[in-house]
Amino acid sequence: MPRRPAEPGGRAGWAGVSIVALAGGVGGSRFARGLRAAAPGAHLTVVVNTGDDLTLHGLRISPDVDTMLYALAGIVDEARGWGPRGDSYRCLAALERLGGETWFQLGDLDLATHLHRTGLLASGRTSSGITAELARCLGITGTVILPMSDDPVETWVQLAEDGRWVHFQEYFVGRRAEVPIRKVRFQGLEAARPAPGVLEALAAADLVVLCPSNPFVSLAPILGVPGVRTAVRSARNRGAVVAGVSPLIGGGTVKGPAARMLAELGHEPTAAGVAAQYADLLDAFLIDPIDAALGQAVQAQGARPIVADALMRGRRGEARLARVLLRATLGQPARA
Ligand code: GDP
Repeated sequence: MPRRPAEPGGRAGWAGVSIVALAGGVGGSRFARGLRAAAPGAHLTVVVNTGDDLTLHGLRISPDVDTMLYALAGIVDEARGWGPRGDSYRCLAALERLGGETWFQLGDLDLATHLHRTGLLASGRTSSGITAELARCLGITGTVILPMSDDPVETWVQLAEDGRWVHFQEYFVGRRAEVPIRKVRFQGLEAARPAPGVLEALAAADLVVLCPSNPFVSLAPILGVPGVRTAVRSARNRGAVVAGVSPLIGGGTVKGPAARMLAELGHEPTAAGVAAQYADLLDAFLIDPIDAALGQAVQAQGARPIVADALMRGRRGEARLARVLLRATLGQPARA
């Protein structure tokens, strides 16, 4: 299969290089931010999961897109990884007094995004158009953020305890992901079309990155939008590199239920188990040194293992990890 030469682009730095990152919320946004810092001048497009979206209090909430917006705008609560920094919960407290639903945390600052998005959707605007406008208003530069689809897709999970199907957020936030699940399904996915720009970005990509995101509820919905998986494969066939970063380190997640989900859904709860979810797509997969022994298992999935400290400690850590992946896949940036 043809591969790009080690020197990306013919111009200085990363100019002329196109990168597409497929991402969920917390892990995805941190790595996307790292890519932007590590490849200045590159054309970076981030395709974000919208399967976590929900309607609450009549408001359309898009948690992963908002996490991406806040992170790339530099206003995210860095400790939590989601929501605006310094948010308050006066509205939620008032809602509680009124007997309203308060299981889903909605901060006062965060509410402005949901109010605005809902109003714009009601006036006939698309999610992708609204996301572009929110990004512009928040001053985001150097990255195009695309929701995976403008069509509604919702992730539902089946609880092992009673076989009941619940919206992903009811499990993730309402039950704190503490109960085992049996299955995952995506309502509306078969009829969803990729948002404008998604297939075009993949068609032009030199590198497609599967961010360190949850394989089942963040990246599977994106890859499941009809046409997306085929576009990633086509990108590979014409010489683009497809590389993933493990969200699991030493058999555990940095945050969230991905490791437990792997086990509950019958897979190996390791970095190799994650690589197996993308087996037909990957050229390379980054794993932590603590998982170096899994290199052969990753190789068996057809992916070249890249072994490097996979924990993103702060902004510098994100950029370092992205730089490692870029160098291992595209080589050094071209000199001026
Ligand atoms: P969500 O939609 O907010 O759950 O976010 P994602 O699906 O994008 O990310 C969740 C995943 O990010 C979890 O499985 C975490 O293990 C992973 N993650 C978070 N921080 C790090 C990190 O520093 N390094 C790696 N490798 N993964 C991380």
